[in-house]
Amino acid sequence: MMRFLVTEESGRLVRWLRLMGYDTVCLATRPLAELYRRAFNEGRVVLTRNHRVKHGSLIRVVYVESGVLEEQLRQLVRELRLSAEEMFSRCDRCNVPVEPIELPPDQRQGFSVRGVDLVFRGTCRDCRQ
Ligand SMILES: [Zn+2]
Repeated sequence: MMRFLVTEESGRLVRWLRLMGYDTVCLATRPLAELYRRAFNEGRVVLTRNHRVKHGSLIRVVYVESGVLEEQLRQLVRELRLSAEEMFSRCDRCNVPVEPIELPPDQRQGFSVRGVDLVFRGTCRDCRQ
């Protein structure tokens, strides 16, 4: 599964990528050396709107075209073939995998988006969300 490093001007993406199950961190673009180091060491694809961030032979950079969240997500799903199969498997605050819920299905919490039932998969061991 892909892992991401989002630069702070596109920080709203972080929460959504985590909700989709992707390990995602947010970083400033200064100093750039730190951003490159982290992306390389942790094997993260960099998502940014800042063209000071350059492609390297060892780091993949995807330039986010739009400033609008919904269009950003659409671009990433298209270009990186992201899927939401792991939806709600990761805490959107702490970026850690959630522990599976042991409640019977009728007691699980979730919500419905456009007729699709989305059920939370578990509880975060860090923030208990
Ligand atoms: Zn958490």
